[in-house]
Amino acid sequence: MPASNFNDRFQHHLSRESRARGNGPFQMLDRLKCNGDIDLISFSGGIPLPSKFPIRKLSVSFPELGCFQEDEHNKYPKEVDVSFDMRNDANTNGLDFEGALQYGQCQGIPELVKFIKKHVELAHSPPYKEWDIKLTNGNTIGLEYCVRLLVDYGESILIEKYTYPAAITAMAPLGVKFISIDMDENGMIPQSLEEVLKKWDYSKGPMPRILYTIPTGQNPTGSTLSIDRKKKIMALARKYDIIIIEDEPYYFLQMDACNATTSEAQIELQDAAENSAILSSFVNRLVPSFLNLDTEGRVLRIDSFSKLIAPGSRLGWITGNPLFIDRITRAAEVSTESPSGISQIVLFGILNHWKQEGFFLWLRELQHTYTNRRNALLQSADKYLPKSICSYRAPKAGLFLWIELDKSRYLFDDQNKPVSEIELDIFQALLQKGVKPVCGQLFMPYPEKNDRIFFRFAYSVAPIDKFEVGMKRFASTLKEFFRLNE
Ligand code: PMP
Repeated sequence: MPASNFNDRFQHHLSRESRARGNGPFQMLDRLKCNGDIDLISFSGGIPLPSKFPIRKLSVSFPELGCFQEDEHNKYPKEVDVSFDMRNDANTNGLDFEGALQYGQCQGIPELVKFIKKHVELAHSPPYKEWDIKLTNGNTIGLEYCVRLLVDYGESILIEKYTYPAAITAMAPLGVKFISIDMDENGMIPQSLEEVLKKWDYSKGPMPRILYTIPTGQNPTGSTLSIDRKKKIMALARKYDIIIIEDEPYYFLQMDACNATTSEAQIELQDAAENSAILSSFVNRLVPSFLNLDTEGRVLRIDSFSKLIAPGSRLGWITGNPLFIDRITRAAEVSTESPSGISQIVLFGILNHWKQEGFFLWLRELQHTYTNRRNALLQSADKYLPKSICSYRAPKAGLFLWIELDKSRYLFDDQNKPVSEIELDIFQALLQKGVKPVCGQLFMPYPEKNDRIFFRFAYSVAPIDKFEVGMKRFASTLKEFFRLNE
């Protein structure tokens, strides 16, 4: 489809701000080309002299492909060093080192862009060919780009009933009205979305045209949307002309079944490394993304290296149709520009060495690590939490266990006490006992309307041998609070 068709189809979705955004001033001059034979001496950009970049060499050490490990010690059986040397053209590992440290790479450094595009192709096979990407400084700014691209002041936005607090805080100053869609343990319920759209009350303003979702390992509920639900939601998006923003930092942390053993996982990893079957076996195990279902370009997918490499890399990318990616790039040209060249060089060093297969192998290792952690937390929860008041489901992806407390079992001293205050009282008591989850009310746009009590427990970083004592402390606090004899 020519780029102009994306303009025709999606131009009306651009926010006023984005529509008003012109091209960068230099692009007008860049379009004018000189005769190819001329030895052009450029006095044009105010770019600094590369020989005065004091960074002469960058090296990165990381685990060698196939030498990953299951346990959590910081030692890997074999590590590899990759370096990029400004002083020696032969030692730049296929990277334009100077270019990576220079201005003018807003999309991202070409070598890394190429790697990530191939990765997107392998992982999602987007069904239209004009899709493009823009490297970002992670999903926080990725979402901000999408919001500034699409949202006008005072609009209604569709979100999951419980959602990522930073998304709420990013959109709230735009006067956004949040329209919460019901969820269950499998994520957003398509019928609830349909109900909202079908019965839209126009006195509330125009029909929403943006859906923000975290389909996999949802933050905070840990739920994962099935392919069946995704297809239904995609069909509704087409019918009601909705743009889907899929925020997927946990997409690749889709886990093994609760009863899968570590030794099975180790054998599988070894096999995959040896016979290069990792590409297909890894991708086939993932729930396909919205991007994979998007034939028209109505999905903006935001991905992040924060959970896959390190949050401090501040690297991620957005995938979408060329109109949206162009407008996002224009916005970036006057704000973040490209992500840090230094960070991109380091990441390229690792990925270029691992190659696509090695990256998937690394992701597989992460899946095993978090599977073990999820299982350990579930075991402790099952063992110690009072069943009469706690309910939770095993997450299939991500880093979170979402626990609801049965409010009806709470013997109120003050019948009129708001639920959010009770939740905070419990939280306070938990802190005194030495255990710190996150209160459910943080994940709601309008907590004052909420009447349920939740806590989110991350199993990603606490020492795994402390999970049991953490759950014991949680359980004993609840028993006191709810005056249980269990
Ligand atoms: N979106 C969601 C749903 C998240 O859970 C997080 C991290 N907690 C982010 C975005 C932020 O990611 P990043 O580090 O890439 O900015």
